[in-house]
Amino acid sequence: MSSLILRFRSKDGMHRINTTQTSTFQSIAQDLLPKLSTDKIDDIIISQDPNSTQTAPLSSILTKTISDLNLKNGDLLYLTYTTNEPTHAKQLDSVPIKATTTISNHGPLTNIKQLPVDDELDKLDGMIQRPTSPMCRHGSKGMCEYCSPLSPWDENYRKENAIKHLSYHAYLNQQMAKFNKKELSSSYIAPLENPNFAIDLKCNEGHKSYPKGICSKCQPSPITLQLQKFRMVDHLEYSSHSILNDFINVWRTSGYQRFGYLYGRYEKFDKVPMGIKAIVEAIIEPPQNDEIDGLTLLKWDDESLVDSIAAKLGIYKVGIVFTDLTDSGMKNGTVLCKRHKDSYFLTNLEILMSGKFQIANPNKTKYSNSGEFSSKFITCVISGGIQGEIEPRSYQVSSNAESLIKADLITGSTQPSQIYVNESNDKRYVPDISFSKINEYGLEIKTNAKPTFPGEFLLVSLTDSFPIEPNPMFNSQPYVIENREFLGDLNQDFQNLSTLYNYLKKQGSQIFDFHFLVYVLKLRILNDDEANLLFEYIKTKDESTYAQLVGSGGWMSLMTILEQSS
Ligand code: ZN
Ligand code: ZN
Repeated sequence: MSSLILRFRSKDGMHRINTTQTSTFQSIAQDLLPKLSTDKIDDIIISQDPNSTQTAPLSSILTKTISDLNLKNGDLLYLTYTTNEPTHAKQLDSVPIKATTTISNHGPLTNIKQLPVDDELDKLDGMIQRPTSPMCRHGSKGMCEYCSPLSPWDENYRKENAIKHLSYHAYLNQQMAKFNKKELSSSYIAPLENPNFAIDLKCNEGHKSYPKGICSKCQPSPITLQLQKFRMVDHLEYSSHSILNDFINVWRTSGYQRFGYLYGRYEKFDKVPMGIKAIVEAIIEPPQNDEIDGLTLLKWDDESLVDSIAAKLGIYKVGIVFTDLTDSGMKNGTVLCKRHKDSYFLTNLEILMSGKFQIANPNKTKYSNSGEFSSKFITCVISGGIQGEIEPRSYQVSSNAESLIKADLITGSTQPSQIYVNESNDKRYVPDISFSKINEYGLEIKTNAKPTFPGEFLLVSLTDSFPIEPNPMFNSQPYVIENREFLGDLNQDFQNLSTLYNYLKKQGSQIFDFHFLVYVLKLRILNDDEANLLFEYIKTKDESTYAQLVGSGGWMSLMTILEQSS
């Protein structure tokens, strides 16, 4: 990789920065900022000619590489910056406005409520401890290059342990170390930012607004898509086999495909440095029209009720799951393996759907200026493995994919493995988009993404498993699963008063089941205190709480109503 020098002229003089074609402006900012005479910088504007109106705020090009911007060895760039020191009123060359503030001197946002797992990981440095090795030439208290701890984003460690992606928090720590060196304590750059690929339709920087006019400020820069190095969640775990089995049973009994929401929580995952896993405690199946070769989701009136019940138990939606199963016809329980590296892992429409779910479920973080960065929402598909076995596989789409969808730049194409790049119109401006891949010789190959590009460039994969010693939150025989009425005779049990009565008679106090809980609360017979007793009982499995619950007025009326109706 050949190195090159870029020159920057500012009111503080000339600064030379050593860099490479593939370095991003983020790394340049890191070298450049300490050379400026103030650290109270609001934003930096860069131009190639001091009298030009072709300027760009540094914050808008942080993710761009030198080659993206067509810069060459020795190029001279002009730098102007605004400071937030009131005494320094500045004469700024041709720079009209202050752009979005990416560089500021406040620290991480304090008013953002992160998930507990993020707060927990924030407190750790994630350093990977290593034992002393045969190469060590020191005593038991010493340390050398062979045994000193590794950073959580260490490339070699990741490769040696076959970890496909950096974890979110390892990536966050890496970005933090890159942007915010300790000696620069007064200037803080938020280490995370969602890319913005949309044209600013409100820009009127001396021109009529788009599509009548356009300028370098409102026009999105060229986009280079690469496989995302990090993933927001590393692993998906179903807390027991039966959760997934009960879900797949729809296909087994009817041949129809099925969709569900995964309810559970995120926890630390120790197999990956600073990793996160999602633990699924229940699958709730919303109203849907299922078919042999697909399904359509219908309006789900109970969604906020289910979410609020889940919240009482400390769980929430962590993703979606759907089946894509076709019997192999070999009469041995095997299914077709349709998804593999020569076809697709997720179809283009599934990628767009995942992206929309991720956008609707953003990841809250203190470390981006918007308080959000990408998403921890997972897409799990149940399909055939290479041996024809039924297996779950989990994915997320990249933060670039989310931004492409937000800016309306992509749609599906007739080929399931390919994503179609939209054309510009009155509402959207589609910049140059390319995708780059490292070939077997280690060289970067860049290809134009128009009109279509492989969907795999937008995917990251997670690992999946079941626990060795299951300890599910809901460990009772499940009550009838919701919204399966369409199965008709194939599944004779529906959620109603008589099946509920039978369930309670059979289960006694063993009522640790989410489907049961939701149905009982939907009947609105229990008052708030009694509902809280039920939550408490399901959480603690404490017998005296159960005694209190069944002795309550609401529970007794529930039983009376059930007895009368059956
Ligand atoms: Zn050593
Ligand atoms: Zn403009």
